[in-house]
Amino acid sequence: MKENQDDLAKIIVLENGKPYADAFGEITYAASFFQWFSEESARVNGDIIPSANATSKILALRQPIGPCGIITPWNFPSAMITRKLGAAVAAGCTTVIKPASETPLSALALAHLSEKAGFPKGVVNVLPSATSAEVGKILCEHPLIKKVSSTGSTGVGKLLMAQSSSTLKKLSFELGGNAPFIVFEDADLDKAVDGAIASKFRSSGQTCICANRLFIHDSLYDEFVKKFVDKLSKTTLGFGLDEKTTHGPVIHEKSMSKVRSHIENAIEKGAKLLLGGKRREDIGENFHELTVLGDVTPKMKIFHEETFGPVAPLIRFSSDEEALSLANDTEVGLAGYFYSSDISKIFKVAENLEVGMIGVNTGAISEAAMPFGGVKESGFGREGSKFGIEDYTIVKSVVLGGL
Ligand code: NAD
Repeated sequence: MKENQDDLAKIIVLENGKPYADAFGEITYAASFFQWFSEESARVNGDIIPSANATSKILALRQPIGPCGIITPWNFPSAMITRKLGAAVAAGCTTVIKPASETPLSALALAHLSEKAGFPKGVVNVLPSATSAEVGKILCEHPLIKKVSSTGSTGVGKLLMAQSSSTLKKLSFELGGNAPFIVFEDADLDKAVDGAIASKFRSSGQTCICANRLFIHDSLYDEFVKKFVDKLSKTTLGFGLDEKTTHGPVIHEKSMSKVRSHIENAIEKGAKLLLGGKRREDIGENFHELTVLGDVTPKMKIFHEETFGPVAPLIRFSSDEEALSLANDTEVGLAGYFYSSDISKIFKVAENLEVGMIGVNTGAISEAAMPFGGVKESGFGREGSKFGIEDYTIVKSVVLGGL
């Protein structure tokens, strides 16, 4: 992947639309999973456990679960595959990968490179398909597939779970989020502004862990708005291969409709448009201005639904308790972020935010060594880290008697 980084990045730009620098960064990130899991594969071991019976010993063998179905989204067409594939192969499993129909080429390029790199035939299989539902159903129902790992929307996760019930397959799901980003009264404002921009607008807001609701303490609200809008005004929307481009389009018309409906609904219900707000057909298909909405409240659709687009809703709060209760007022719990300089508050908030991953004083959290995953309707299972490999193994107990 490193040797072919430029080509792989260009494929991502052409099929996903994100700027080249982001695509290049995605390949570095994607390749880091192979590096990390190849090192960790040396430590996939079991246990020897003392038995209550003096003449026996208990061995807990850790074995590969078997052939795995891997279903991935379009927003990180390379990294969402390697985060699963690296762990599966490290555990000793073979894979059938169904990439998103919007981004099959990144997956095929990876399969081609894996063959060149010497993976035995049959370890990395890619099944691109325009008929996701059909392939997904087969992966979930087929008795030879022992596990399905899927990253995508919560709705599709629920469907796959129901389909897998006939074979009681092991599952792991990385699903949708609605991440809170809280700027407490004692936050470093400049750092919070930079973190919010990175977290909210990376890939034009199309990441599952991106800040979806920004809660700003009343005392900092006006200054935050000024700095946030000022920095965002200096971004450039455009084609991913153009060097000046800092932000690309949304993936398709369906995403655009959601972005438009969230903005319109919020404004109708009293939100203030502080930046952007327009579709930009003059630039190309599915381009939308980076948009900031002020005075957003829980009455608006954007508070409860994941926008998955370039819109930042700002919500005021006046006490820590209010911020936590608003942040947790959602049925999903993938990521959360907050900025504070008070160490006891940091622990209290980290323990009480109902999410699987938290960034404290940072808007960037994901790396190969970190257990990645959610709680509530954001799914279950962890990717990355040693837990990522465990998800692709079974533990078999062997009792040695008559010793
Ligand atoms: P999606 O659920 O529509 O698609 C994800 C994958 O599932 C794709 O491969 C798609 O082809 C496939 N799929 C769609 N319908 C299917 C069906 N009926 N049966 C089997 N497979 C099916 O999601 P999307 O809209 O493409 O991606 C955005 C969503 O993914 C967001 O909700 C986002 O939060 C989530 N996401 C989560 C993570 C994470 O790690 N938690 C990462 C990226 C994206």
